[in-house]
Amino acid sequence: MLKVDNLVVNYGAIQAVKDVSFHINTGEIVALIGANGAGKTTIVKTISGLLKPAQGSITYEQQDLKHQSAPAIVAAGIAQVPEGRHIFAGLSVAENLQMGAFLQHDHAQISDSLQNVYKRFPILKQRQNQDAATLSGGEQQMLAMARALMSRPKLLLLDEPSMGLAPIFINEIFNIVQAIKQQGTTVLLIEQNAKKALAIADRAYVLAAGKVSLHGTGPELLANTAVQKAYLGG
Ligand code: ATP
Repeated sequence: MLKVDNLVVNYGAIQAVKDVSFHINTGEIVALIGANGAGKTTIVKTISGLLKPAQGSITYEQQDLKHQSAPAIVAAGIAQVPEGRHIFAGLSVAENLQMGAFLQHDHAQISDSLQNVYKRFPILKQRQNQDAATLSGGEQQMLAMARALMSRPKLLLLDEPSMGLAPIFINEIFNIVQAIKQQGTTVLLIEQNAKKALAIADRAYVLAAGKVSLHGTGPELLANTAVQKAYLGG
């Protein structure tokens, strides 16, 4: 579904991503794990068109994404849930969700998407008229995920969904990621919580200093001694 080849991304003189290649098959959860500053967020932002690569290619369903705008990439079926959620404060939960459908004009379809996300996230239905800024951290993460699902993506890019959440919410978020996969959406999962990410990932890539240092299935990497030492506290 998505193929990233020899990707290089720079911030001025800083090379944040140095020759990274990986792929995602339809229906998979693929995790990118790695320490702070390894380049994970940079890769996600480049796939979603917010940053432009210096070198390499990103191919999604036979289309080259390199020269596409961020809205065109959303329209092609890729939605991003950014690190830190970026909820629109001052807007209600329902209004935040409607922002996720900004490219759609079919009101019946928007209403149908809204009912679907309310079914998946009942708490958001209960809070639909509440200012989104007053939601708890875990509820805001659910809102950010639900807002992305409003665009009916085929591929969901999740950047650090568990960051800053209490353990009970972390488990809930990972359960939701699995449910999203089961309902047919492919997922790229960026996580610092390597243990939980590898437990639900079909395959994963370990990034270190802007490069892929290891890749394998979730169970293979969970059992890998180097991964255990560096990322699993083992
Ligand atoms: P984290 O888990 O901490 O978010 P990450 O793996 O997502 O880390 P990135 O945010 O992609 O890493 O950062 C990769 C490198 O690029 C880091 O060295 C970072 O300091 C640098 N970087 C990120 N954003 C910018 C920017 N806007 N300007 C300059 N350097 C940046």
